[in-house]
Amino acid sequence: MTPSTTPTPATSTHAIVIGGSIAGLLAARVLSDHFDTVTILERDRLPDGPQGRAGAPQGKHAHNLLVRGLRIMEALFPGFEQALADEGAPVMNYGSDVRVLVTPTQWLPRIETTYASRAASRPMVEWLLRERVMALPNVEICERVVVDGLLLDANKTRVTGVKVSQRGVKAPSELAADFVVDASGRRTRTPVWLEELGFGKPEVSIVDSGVGYATRLYRKPAGFDDWTVLYMPPKWPNPRGGAVFEVENDYWLVSQGGYLRDYPPTDPDGFLNFASTFPQPDLYNAIKDAEPLSDVVSYRNTRNIRYHYQRMTLPTHYAVVGDAVCGFNPVYGQGMSSAAMAAELLGEVIAHSHGDLAGVTATFQKKLAELHEDIWLLATMEDLVFISQKEGMEGKGPSRIERMAQMYIGRSIGTMLYDPYIAQVFVEIMNLTKPTRALFHPRVMASVLWHSLTNPPAKRAAAAPTQAVSPS
Ligand SMILES: Cc1cc2nc3c(=O)[nH]c(=O)nc-3n(C[C@H](O)[C@H](O)[C@H](O)COP(=O)(O)OP(=O)(O)OC[C@H]3O[C@@H](n4cnc5c(N)ncnc54)[C@H](O)[C@@H]3O)c2cc1C
Repeated sequence: MTPSTTPTPATSTHAIVIGGSIAGLLAARVLSDHFDTVTILERDRLPDGPQGRAGAPQGKHAHNLLVRGLRIMEALFPGFEQALADEGAPVMNYGSDVRVLVTPTQWLPRIETTYASRAASRPMVEWLLRERVMALPNVEICERVVVDGLLLDANKTRVTGVKVSQRGVKAPSELAADFVVDASGRRTRTPVWLEELGFGKPEVSIVDSGVGYATRLYRKPAGFDDWTVLYMPPKWPNPRGGAVFEVENDYWLVSQGGYLRDYPPTDPDGFLNFASTFPQPDLYNAIKDAEPLSDVVSYRNTRNIRYHYQRMTLPTHYAVVGDAVCGFNPVYGQGMSSAAMAAELLGEVIAHSHGDLAGVTATFQKKLAELHEDIWLLATMEDLVFISQKEGMEGKGPSRIERMAQMYIGRSIGTMLYDPYIAQVFVEIMNLTKPTRALFHPRVMASVLWHSLTNPPAKRAAAAPTQAVSPS
């Protein structure tokens, strides 16, 4: 179906999704298996192709589609990866195409692996998903429709629909539904709506390490074939980092970022100079003579924020997914994949409910919170280190247990430079296809212990090469 601006009145079972971005599209795909009709309500006018739009301003910045996210998208839309390939999104094989700076002087060693994702712009990922959702016979996307509130039944325990207004049209209206999903991103109104309806405020955790992004599009130099992705993440005590993603059309999306409000400049010279301050010159060298194709754009709403809906009584027949329930610092590229994991989980919980939707909300939000636990740990670990070094940042410094976990993970990172098996495990954890507890597998712990004993940190520092160790 092509997007319309007027929702069709529901006849039989009907689900509504608030927000037609990545999380909303994936949720709608899953709901289409369980409801006769699904309506996505999206405030933006939606482009007819892989273009950016006002409601998803982060789309201008490099987006890493983790392996877990790609696998779920492929399962929900068979042929999705081929569609990315057909649009020119290159393979990101973690053995041969991705170059990652692990310490200020050492790169992730080359591992023999078939483990891979695809590098595409976010608008391309969203467009290919939207195209496929629009082709579903029972899903309708309504653009320029803003959801202003929730409708409850007479007992005030169950969501029965939403209040909507058409952009540019004054009169608000109501739309009934058997189930409503909030996928409206970081600007979610669910906390406000719940409070207004008497459910109270959700508890919220915030870790804000003051990360700011700046991004510029370049043309990939002709014949360049050294890597598909160059990734130089910030790591204490260096607050600056950046990445180059080769995406469709032979473009390079170059995003740079700084912790503790050390924001990258948005003027062309400042942007380039920022890259020259990284521990290794590779990113600077890559872009210094490359042809820029856009201005520099910035983005600063990057704090980790998590609403603990699992800790409160919610109205039933309702779910919150994607950035609307948990937004991660984007440095580790987890947002789209965690939205995909949430959609997958929602499908499982609804399937197990055998049509009794009353229990879905509490079960889903509880399981989703458990699923977010691991991702939150990965997303905030480095942030907590930075936060603990500067006054006035939002979020507590690491607890004793977190410090110990950080120390062990730090040792594991050191070990992966010497043991390809650990490197593979680490890559899979960061791509969300393995849980962080995989680092506590006996094979991994034995290797970490062995390398810590035979190569303690002081010795490693003394032995650290002054030149980058390139993948062989
Ligand atoms: C700088 C930056 C870089 C990032 N990099 C990565 C990365 O490398 N990899 C990755 O996986 N993720 C990354 N992310 C996160 C990623 O963009 C999001 O997690 C992902 O797009 C999922 O978002 P969402 O669908 O939950 O919300 P959004 O994309 O924010 O979409 C919400 C949608 O809801 C609509 N909406 C809002 N309110 C209403 C309303 N009341 N009524 C109707 N519609 C409404 C909006 O118009 C919008 O379309 C990054 C984020 C940022 C900020």
